[in-house]
Formats: sequence, structure tokens, C-alpha cells
Amino acid sequence: MSRAYNFCAGPATLPESVLAQARDEMLDWRGTGMSVMEMSHRSDAFVEIAETAERDLRELAGVSDDYAVLFMQGGASSQFSTIPLNLLGEKTSADYVNTGIWSKKAIDEARRYANVNVVASSEEGGFVSIPDQTSWQTSADAAYLHYTPNETIGGLEFDFVPDSAGVPLVADMSSTMLSRPVDASKFGLIYAGAQKNIGPSGLVVVIIRKDLLGKARKDTPTMMNYQVIADNGSMYNTPATYSWYLAGLVFKWLKAQGGVTAMGETNRRKAEKLYGFIDANEFYANPIDPRFRSWMNIPFTLQDDALNGAFLKGADARGLLNLAGHRSVGGMRASIYNAMPEAGVDALIQYMTEFAKERG
Ligand SMILES: *Cc1c(COP(=O)(O)O)cnc(C)c1O
Repeated sequence: MSRAYNFCAGPATLPESVLAQARDEMLDWRGTGMSVMEMSHRSDAFVEIAETAERDLRELAGVSDDYAVLFMQGGASSQFSTIPLNLLGEKTSADYVNTGIWSKKAIDEARRYANVNVVASSEEGGFVSIPDQTSWQTSADAAYLHYTPNETIGGLEFDFVPDSAGVPLVADMSSTMLSRPVDASKFGLIYAGAQKNIGPSGLVVVIIRKDLLGKARKDTPTMMNYQVIADNGSMYNTPATYSWYLAGLVFKWLKAQGGVTAMGETNRRKAEKLYGFIDANEFYANPIDPRFRSWMNIPFTLQDDALNGAFLKGADARGLLNLAGHRSVGGMRASIYNAMPEAGVDALIQYMTEFAKERG
């Protein structure tokens, strides 16, 4: 068997040991005589799997009992509407920061329910930086302040947590969740689609401060009502059991790596290596303000776009997969989430070095 280095932005590579454990447990989970996929979500065995995953996530992310942890479905995108439906309460407006394509999607969806104030935007400059917080036009009357800590497509990442001045802070952490230490207590709500750093697609983890529960609009679909999901331990209906189990295996793996502090150090090192190489080699370029370069998603261009096809073909032949940039921006993108080993980054740099020598 040979495993490729998969640089896909999502669904993304998973730790090999997690996949191997899932394989070993596939037909018979710990003597139950069945696969996790076949278990009742009400069974003792699955409840243990579910509770362990939640406990490990709380420990990894430093989430206190003031917060509910929900394992929901519909991906991060479903949260773009779930959030305004649940958090507006008596208010009519919400503040959003626009730093890229995912911010814009969240904004567009929220506009169906709320007066959206875009308090800051880096769109004019092509989303290569993050506006200084002193320039943000926030409103004390906003129901919440939403931002996207890591723009997966642009490769732009906040290196600070905004000060929301008492307004609940809401973050789409889909592509940065558990990649570095973050003070969870600063947030009203954190959500993350699982397929980047947590597990299989479809699952979305929501961490919500309990005082924000119970404010959903009357016409909110039951399945999107945080209070209902929280009251039912994320089992109002049948949860995504197998994805939940796999997420739990990833959390155990993360703990074995030393948790998010150790992970953050590794991620910083991996990213600095690749950016350092790109900056030093004239053949490659990355347009992002160095302060706000993502540790997780690293877009880059070649000297000549006409070489993109040849670059990708050569990469494929070496088992360096899914390096094409997002269809909306072109160029290349290497997503190097938690589960991408440093050896994968080294192999990519080795290939880039040789390609530039041959074609530059
Ligand atoms: C991938 C991603 C999404 C969308 O996730 P889905 O699970 O496909 O809905 C939203 N926001 C960010 C920042 C992402 O990286």
C-alpha cells in the first residue's frame, strides 16, 4: 500500500494511524460484534464513543462547562443561516468582517435574516491582508460579531482574536480549529466543518456559550435550533455516528501528539519552511501580507501560469496530490493541516526546487 501526500483543502488528509485504527475496528468494535456504523446511537457503546469525543475536544480546545458542544450536520455552510436564526434574538443587525470567500458566503446567507453590517473588508486589496481593528466600524447594538479566522481559499489567517467589546464573538474555525492554541473563553460561538482538521465531511462541531441558547426565532427549523440540539445531546435525530467516532479518534491522536500547543509549534514550523522557500525562490510567489499568512492553506503561483499543468502532472507522478488552487483563484494551494506530516512539506519543497531548476 502506498499513501500519497494529499494537499487537498477539504476533505483533507487524516492521520494514517487513525485510518488504520478505524480499519482494525471496522467489523467488530471492541467485542460488540458490530461496526460503529451499525450501532444504535442510543446504545451504551455509542454513547461512550460520543461522550469520550466531546470530553477530549473540550480538553484539547480548553472549553469550559459554560459552553455546550454540539455535533451537528450539514457542514459549516449550514451554520451560515443557523447562526443568525439562533443568535439575533430581539436584535435586527449583526456585524461581519469580510476577509475572503468564506466570509462573503457567511455574509450573503446572513442577509436573508439580518441587517448585516460589514464592519471591515479587505476585498479592495484582493484579500491579501486583514484590516487593523482600530478601523472596524462595529456597532454596540449588533447581535454578534462574525469573522473567519482562517480563509481557506485565500490563505489569510488572523494572528489575533478580535476584541468584540462585549458583543458575542462568532468564528468560523473550519480550517484552523485545533491547529494552534486559542482562548475559547473569548468566543460566544465557534463552529468548524470537520473535513479539514477534525474528520469526515458533513459533520460540523459547534461550541456555544450557554447563555446564547434559547433565543432562536420562532420559525427556526427544529434541526437548526441550538437549544433543541443541546437539550438532546446532539441526538434529537440520528447523528452522524461514524463521523463522530472518527472525530473522536482524531482527538485522541491530537492528544497523543501533545495537544494544540505542540501542534501549533509543528504547524508554525511547517508553514515557515514552505513560505521561506517560496520567498527565497524567484520562481514562486505568495501574495499575502506576511503577518497574516495562513499556517494551514498556502497558495502560491509559478512564474508562468502556462507551466501550471506541467507542475501538477509532475506533482501527481510523485504522489503529491491536489495542489491545484481553488477554481476561483487559480495557481496552486498546499493545504497542510494537522495531519500533514512535516515530511510531506519537505517532499513538496524538494519537488518545487527541482521543477524551478528545470523550468525556471
Ligand atoms: C470548508 C469551509 C467551509 C464550508 O464547509 P462545508 O462543510 O463544505 O459547508 C466554510 N468555511 C470555511 C472557513 C471553510 O474552510
